[in-house]
Amino acid sequence: MSLDNRPVYTGGCQCGAVRFRVEGALGDASVCHCRMCQKASGNFYLPLVSVRGAGLDWTRSEPKRFRSSNAALRGFCAECGTPLTFEATDGVALAIAAFDHPEEIAPTTQWGVEAKLPYVDHVHELPGEETMADVSSASYLADLVSYQHPDHDTEQWPPEERS
Ligand SMILES: [Zn+2]
Ligand SMILES: [Zn+2]
Repeated sequence: MSLDNRPVYTGGCQCGAVRFRVEGALGDASVCHCRMCQKASGNFYLPLVSVRGAGLDWTRSEPKRFRSSNAALRGFCAECGTPLTFEATDGVALAIAAFDHPEEIAPTTQWGVEAKLPYVDHVHELPGEETMADVSSASYLADLVSYQHPDHDTEQWPPEERS
């Protein structure tokens, strides 16, 4: 919460070069299956939440932008490539998974369903394993050191001992 009781959300890219702070209520949260969102995210669909009614600040560097059409820009981290924004004339939407707490932002609508990939609705039916279930075939997991920015703001990143 901010001083005047407005909700505050933070997030950023995987490497931490781009960080954002949103103050105020979030707008519609959705997933988009359209082919442009698939390519821009490198994924089956792109979960986005509108921040058009809130205050958005880039607290480190800003994203680099690709103009994907005459109507929109797609923002991403120039250092690590994390997809971050969809920016159109009616406002900005942020990638839900880039927030520090994406579990708080549940999508309520799907767009672009004509392009939905045929297996997407069945992913939850696939056999599932936890990450460490595969340690015998991927021994590096036991000694893994993450260079990913943590899910909260930091004074300095990367930490001094690594920079
Ligand atoms: Zn980055
Ligand atoms: Zn889309």
